[in-house]
Amino acid sequence: MHLSHVGVSKLCFLVSLALCALLLLLIPTLQAPPRQGGDRPPPPPRPKPQPRHANKHAPGGSSVQLGPDGGGGDGGGAPHPNKTGQRVTLETTVGRAAAAGRLDPLPLHQAPGALPPPQRKFSSSGSRSSRDPLELRDVFIAVKTTKKYHKTRLELLSQTWVSRAKEQTFIFTDGEDKELKKRTGLNLINTNCSAAHTRQALCCKMSVEYDKFIESQKKWFCHVDDDNYVILPSLLRLLSSYSHVQDVYLGRPSLDHPIEAAERVKSDGSVSVKFWFATGGAGFCISRGLALKMSPWASLGNFITTAEKIRLPDDCTIGYIIEALLEVSMTHTHLFHSHLENLTRLPSNSVLDQVTLSYGGFENRRNVVSVGGVFSLAQDPSRFKSIHCLLYPETEWCPKRTRP
Ligand code: UDP
Ligand code: MN
Repeated sequence: MHLSHVGVSKLCFLVSLALCALLLLLIPTLQAPPRQGGDRPPPPPRPKPQPRHANKHAPGGSSVQLGPDGGGGDGGGAPHPNKTGQRVTLETTVGRAAAAGRLDPLPLHQAPGALPPPQRKFSSSGSRSSRDPLELRDVFIAVKTTKKYHKTRLELLSQTWVSRAKEQTFIFTDGEDKELKKRTGLNLINTNCSAAHTRQALCCKMSVEYDKFIESQKKWFCHVDDDNYVILPSLLRLLSSYSHVQDVYLGRPSLDHPIEAAERVKSDGSVSVKFWFATGGAGFCISRGLALKMSPWASLGNFITTAEKIRLPDDCTIGYIIEALLEVSMTHTHLFHSHLENLTRLPSNSVLDQVTLSYGGFENRRNVVSVGGVFSLAQDPSRFKSIHCLLYPETEWCPKRTRP
């Protein structure tokens, strides 16, 4: 009986031990399941560099997708928003030329695989943060001209808008003019290209423009013709709403549809390719980030080879390299104007808000912008002097304003 009592006690002890062990095993499964929509959201995924299609054709190029660094556009040039409303992704390419040390080295934050730079804030007007304001000296302005227009068109530019951006404006011409250089102090660059108005001659000038821009280390490349007026404050405002390290190609198409050309760079010309291009007569701008990616097809004479392959003029070739080869979309803007459009239809009160203006058709039907109150049409047939005096009334040759 005694023995059996001890046996029962032992048995009880063993049973309770087993129960305890079972309880210990069951503790994790008895815990409450995680709450749906709890206090703490799951941590956001870390931005991961991803390969992108954009530069797959660039010899020696690599491209990574980094975080957004863009802002809103101006009223005219609509940026390309992605699904989250952010404009574009920051892309970088270590092109062959850059790798060879011919182009400027990439800043640290652009290195492939690096984390994105801190996101900048943009105001509702699209301006960039005051931490990094864009200055006129950050812009390289190339003016295409020819010797026969030195006395007429260039003289007018030198008196007007170029006088306000002398340091960063470069005139690409086809002949020496020491007298003009000395008298006006213009940055006159003799390209030694032919003075003919042929595709080859125009592409030759564009090729030199591109190389000089790359050399300049400036943030933006803007090209204009010698019959364009550049409204510098508007240009600065427009460019300030974009980042020069992103892929930006701003301009105005002269057609309402993309151009089609035989693809002779990536293939043998049996297939065609469609792309938009910004008309050179209205001017266009390219960010440094994008210009660097263009290098394999644009630098050191390659631009001429590319243009020859597709047999198109300089401005179309720029569009071809950017849209067809690099697969970067042009940002269309109505703030750039050529004399191909009816300039008289531009509302007078919006003229000074535009980025570029032009003039044409003095002989037959005059095609100039409507600005009144400064010089008569006889005194100022292009209207450039009137526009200049409205922008900079303190200019010594502008009529002194009488107080009402
Ligand atoms: N141009 C040139 N070589 C020429 C003729 C013109 O470089 O033999 C330049 C001219 O200086 C201008 C641009 O090409 O910057 C367009 O010329 P223009 O305005 O005469 O013609 P458009 O194409 O506008 O009718
Ligand atoms: Mn013209």
